[in-house]
Amino acid sequence: MDLDRLWKNVTEELKIVLASAVFQTFVSKTQLLVLKDNQAIIGCPSPYVAEQNRKYLAYFKSALDNQTKANNNLEFILQAPIKPESAQPIGPLFSPTYNSSSPDLSLARSGLHPRYTFDNLVVGNSNNFAYAAAQGIVKNPGASYNPFFIWGGVGVGKTHLMQAIGHELIKNNPQAKVRYFPAETFGNELISSLKSKSINQFKDRYRQNDCILVDDIQFIAGKDYTQEEFFHTFNALHMAGKQVILTSDRKPSDIKGLEDRLVSRFMGGLTVDIQPPDFEMRSAIIIQKAQQKGISLNSDAVSYLAENIDSNTREIEGKMQQLTISALSQNQSNIDLNFARNFFHQPNPSLEFYTPVNPRHLISVCAKYFDIKTGDLIGNVRKKDLVLARHLTAYLLLTEINLPLKEVGHLLGGRDHTSIMHARDKITADLTSNSVLRQQLKDIHSLL
Ligand code: ADP
Ligand code: MG
Repeated sequence: MDLDRLWKNVTEELKIVLASAVFQTFVSKTQLLVLKDNQAIIGCPSPYVAEQNRKYLAYFKSALDNQTKANNNLEFILQAPIKPESAQPIGPLFSPTYNSSSPDLSLARSGLHPRYTFDNLVVGNSNNFAYAAAQGIVKNPGASYNPFFIWGGVGVGKTHLMQAIGHELIKNNPQAKVRYFPAETFGNELISSLKSKSINQFKDRYRQNDCILVDDIQFIAGKDYTQEEFFHTFNALHMAGKQVILTSDRKPSDIKGLEDRLVSRFMGGLTVDIQPPDFEMRSAIIIQKAQQKGISLNSDAVSYLAENIDSNTREIEGKMQQLTISALSQNQSNIDLNFARNFFHQPNPSLEFYTPVNPRHLISVCAKYFDIKTGDLIGNVRKKDLVLARHLTAYLLLTEINLPLKEVGHLLGGRDHTSIMHARDKITADLTSNSVLRQQLKDIHSLL
């Protein structure tokens, strides 16, 4: 039996015993690379997927032993990424040349958020259809599902899924011109291009892309001029075989004030919806979010949280953020049922902090706490104390107010988003080992 066939049988067995979210997000991404002298090497696409699958080692082993009637040793490894030269299906619109343009450049131009990738996306009942369609687009952009219209309530992962497609297209072809923008931005730029008499540049900017990702298209409803211009942009791209992906809070026919001709264009491809996550998927998301923050949860705690955070993914993320900070500030990196219960039932005074805070207020509180001038906090002097204060402020702006990296960079004296990302990662890493830092964070909480 060939390896693929054997592995298919093994994973079919696992499909029966494991939760479907676990299966789809982790197990289904594995591949049996080698089986020799009862030693099996299993490839995983990312360290995170490998780590998750290792937890189910006993299940993998029993299924493989069963299929081979032998006693095997299993090892999960990170599969070498596929080289661009061998990158497979290139749709009609992407020419398979990989020379000059670097993915970093395309990525920087694309407006994509680095975190919104397929690797970070949990797949479960509520989004597996949308996910499968997204994979189809990645294989054949501009061809099969064009336009691709994703709709669903707030925080269910529309933006994340759409951007994951964008990331993958750039990965497959670093020269692909992928551009993400909220529909509102399109409207605003149109108006300002009219004012500055640069409408032709505006048109070029939008029409020269290989793929546009238009978020929250419902915002153009009722705006005649924006709808008119979007209609022409859409047609120009669509006729040239370029991929158009749209999201909205409802399906095209339910968007009030959206012109009929746009409704019919939007419905001319594939329309999918994403529902709020069910219990299993919420569990998988909770595990993923905790993992990303270096926290482990026992299974009772996961079930308890999945029962009690019964809403969309954005809220789960927010709650997990609060839970993590609360755990870290109490020096805990393992969360059990008790901790989870207390988190819900005894409002922790420090959590009052989580009511929305004004960013400038937060900056000034941090400056005061470290006894430095706001100007120094957001300035360029690289003294050790100033740098720490800056990092902590950036961390708080990101985690507490959920500001985008760019915005935080802007507020902190016009810094680049990568330096903000660095600050966030540094503080996140230090919080697990540095109790002084945890205390400082707590102190600042109480001042806000
Ligand atoms: P929407 O655009 O539908 O309002 P987003 O895509 O902005 O929702 O998702 C809200 C948050 O939840 C984001 O931080 C996103 O990364 C996260 N998220 C949403 N869906 C998933 C998922 N399936 N797996 C992991 N994280 C998710
Ligand atoms: Mg969104």
